[in-house]
Amino acid sequence: MTNPQKIIVIGAGICGVSTAIWLRRAGHDVLLLDKDGPGAGASYGNAGLLAQWALVPVNTPGVMKTGLKYMLNPKSPLFMQWSYFPKLFPWLVKFIKHANDADTQRTVEGLIPLLSDSVEQHIALTRGTRAEKWIARSDLSFAYETRALFEADSYGWGLRRKAGFDVELIEGRAVQEAEPILKDNITCLAVTKNHGHILNPGEYLADLAQVLTDEGGEYRQAEVRDITLVDGRITSVETDHGSLPCDRAVLTAGIWSKPLMHKLGVKVLLEAERGYHLHFKNASHLPNNPFMMVSGKFAVNPMGADLRCAGMVELGSIEKPPSKAPFRLLRGQVAKYFNDFTFDSVEEWMGFRPSTPDSLPLIGEIGQTHVMAGFGHQHIGLTAGPKTGRILADLISGQRPNLDLRAYDANRYSGR
Ligand SMILES: Cc1cc2nc3c(=O)[nH]c(=O)nc-3n(C[C@H](O)[C@H](O)[C@H](O)COP(=O)(O)OP(=O)(O)OC[C@H]3O[C@@H](n4cnc5c(N)ncnc54)[C@H](O)[C@@H]3O)c2cc1C
Repeated sequence: MTNPQKIIVIGAGICGVSTAIWLRRAGHDVLLLDKDGPGAGASYGNAGLLAQWALVPVNTPGVMKTGLKYMLNPKSPLFMQWSYFPKLFPWLVKFIKHANDADTQRTVEGLIPLLSDSVEQHIALTRGTRAEKWIARSDLSFAYETRALFEADSYGWGLRRKAGFDVELIEGRAVQEAEPILKDNITCLAVTKNHGHILNPGEYLADLAQVLTDEGGEYRQAEVRDITLVDGRITSVETDHGSLPCDRAVLTAGIWSKPLMHKLGVKVLLEAERGYHLHFKNASHLPNNPFMMVSGKFAVNPMGADLRCAGMVELGSIEKPPSKAPFRLLRGQVAKYFNDFTFDSVEEWMGFRPSTPDSLPLIGEIGQTHVMAGFGHQHIGLTAGPKTGRILADLISGQRPNLDLRAYDANRYSGR
């Protein structure tokens, strides 16, 4: 490391803490800021899956038809806050425009390097630290009511197979032998091997922030309100606790990166896919491995003695409180698919997946401002956070990462 710099990382979600740790390990003077606390955003309540297989974006060909079908069905896992629709419209138009085969293939190509070695990236981030205990290796299954529904998903499975994922089918009564928690209305499990999951995302993030300080970095609670540029380059970050000078900043504030990008004069297309979890404490049944309930569009992950079910998509404002209907639907799905399921208590949570219209994150420098972007990871931020942090630390340290970064171009929505 020839040139240590003073770097402020804005936002202590998985992207921010990972970036801060890798920057510190590269010898930089690192200050990580969060308005609420490490893991206060989406990184707290996600499903905890290291989703190496999640390379198929939501907006595949046919999303318009499926979306409309879902909109008309109150029991579907897609919700819309209609009062927000006019604000959402420009993003939605672009999102639907990307739902064609060529763009989907381009997105998949862009996601593969961020996802494919996720478990190893989390292990490298945490090796020998207090945070390594939260990582578990596991298989991952997709639960279908029928084999016909699995076959109807052939577009996504084709893309996964092309990317090297083998799938093994378990059918009939063997499904309940593999996962006794499932009722016999699930008759087909598509199993993929060699994945991983996080046993408690909230505790994981708290420990990662502590790893940063253990290794000589600094964490402070402060809200960033503005970014000062002189001659087009950052000189300081303005917070509710005063002005903080720096050589560079990294914007890893998840969905809240959008207003800070506005401060830089960039109108980035970023919207929240609001997601929901029910976290059942002391669950009567736990699955042997995490799985996706395909029909309900939610993930099921054992976390110690607890079970977390997380998913649903609600397009809407980040200012509005959680809606009741997604929780109701999630509870109904649990009752429909799980055998005699009981628990001591349940936590309800809602958070914001930061999503771009092409389902790819922004990673890299914004113009020549010396402000780096590291946000927009939609459904896969927990999986891709450590790799994102490594890429950003390499770029800042003047090392060219060994992958094609064009898909993540931080200026593609600029209109500065
Ligand atoms: C229901 C649900 C399930 C999911 N399941 C999975 C999964 O299984 N696997 C997976 O890979 N991904 C999953 N995701 C997606 C994943 O959680 C997100 O992509 C990821 O957490 C985004 O991380 P982030 O660091 O970009 O943002 P966040 O975790 O949202 O962190 C942003 C941080 O910035 C801070 N901040 C914001 N504004 C400011 C400011 N002005 N000043 C200072 N700090 C600020 C916030 O307080 C917050 O802590 C899921 C998401 C949801 C909602």
